[in-house]
Amino acid sequence: MDLLDTLTAKGLRGETPTREEALAVLATTDDELLDVVAAAGRVRRRWFGRRVKLNYLVNLKSGLCPEDCSYCSQRLGSKAEILKYTWLKPGQAAEAAKAGVSGGAKRVCLVASGRGPTDRDIDRVTDTVAAIKEADPAVEICACLGLLSDNQAERLKAAGVDAYNHNLNTSEGTYGDITTTHTYADRVDTVQKAHGAGLSACSGLIAGMGESDEDLVDVVFALRELGSDSVPVNFLIPFEGTPLAKEWNLSPQRCLRILAMVRFVNPDTEVRIAGGREVHLRSMQPLGLHLANSIFLGDYLTSEGQAGQADLDMIRDGGFEIEGMGEGTLPRHRADIAADAAAGAGGGGGPCGGGHGQAAGAEAGTAAAPEAAGCGTGGGCGPCGGHGHGHAAETEAGAEGTEGTDEARTDLVRVRRRGAGTELAPNA
Ligand code: SF4
Repeated sequence: MDLLDTLTAKGLRGETPTREEALAVLATTDDELLDVVAAAGRVRRRWFGRRVKLNYLVNLKSGLCPEDCSYCSQRLGSKAEILKYTWLKPGQAAEAAKAGVSGGAKRVCLVASGRGPTDRDIDRVTDTVAAIKEADPAVEICACLGLLSDNQAERLKAAGVDAYNHNLNTSEGTYGDITTTHTYADRVDTVQKAHGAGLSACSGLIAGMGESDEDLVDVVFALRELGSDSVPVNFLIPFEGTPLAKEWNLSPQRCLRILAMVRFVNPDTEVRIAGGREVHLRSMQPLGLHLANSIFLGDYLTSEGQAGQADLDMIRDGGFEIEGMGEGTLPRHRADIAADAAAGAGGGGGPCGGGHGQAAGAEAGTAAAPEAAGCGTGGGCGPCGGHGHGHAAETEAGAEGTEGTDEARTDLVRVRRRGAGTELAPNA
């Protein structure tokens, strides 16, 4: 297949495909699916070998958000029966983080619901980071606290935070359909603030909100332009009690095509399967590891994942290996870009874009510089949500062989009842 040969050749050189080529990946048929996975898998192995990075979510503050993100179970007016609690104490958060690190996670993602942190909230996170790093100085920490105000990214960096997650979620053209209380431009601004302060930028998307193929390609190219070091790919978990509860638009095949497209557009960037992995990929999860090089271990923010041991078994059974604490995630040339950005931080923090594609000679798994990656989530300010705008559903229904409408699998959506904010042990 000429398309896949072209995409593989570009990916192996670290080059980005054209927009038309990315759209063509999403339009492939189920008969072509394994060829698509094999082609994108070659690109994944070129830059990341067979390593899988494990990340662990700690929801510092759950629910009660004043924002109206349609996909989110923590949104204003959400009727989802999720855990609701205010800020965990640093010791409680460190205890939860320890479970994830013990399970094999090298990155802990500290997430709090809300529009954005106050300066007092930055103090809380600073204390929490200190508690976690006291127990294990090597653990990477990503913060996900919403929209940042001036100087907050710098304060997080000074506190020892390594990365900041803030997802673009969907295309600029449709952002206003899913959220009205802030804008796409607000989100871009926060990613740039984080990057400008020397934090590794983690920013991704949510698929399954009724978006068109064009929307998906738009947001993935925007993330590439933004210079995100890590791209979490969330598949909407249609929580009962949210506006998108009926949006079951994804099949496992569709999810794999989306992951392959994200990999081709971001050949040398961390691609993470985030929220919705178990709900939408289901028994096809192992194929997703041939495309993404990073997943979350255990539970998400407001929903439960499969048992942490099942995550570990899946990785080992597939012939993959868990990325160690001392190993770099990004290939050397990308890690160098991230390190340069961090060294030059303090300025405006514009998108770093560019710089990709010059990777000839760089080898997978040889990064020596501090890597970058990022957080995603699984229910709140990151992975989860979903929404539908009519135009997308119509477009996809008309594309023969390109779409697999999923059946509603509400039986697979389990509200988190263990770990942070409860008396029960975390799943890790
Ligand atoms: S995604 Fe974040 S900002 Fe939006 S409603 Fe959920 S917790 Fe609030």
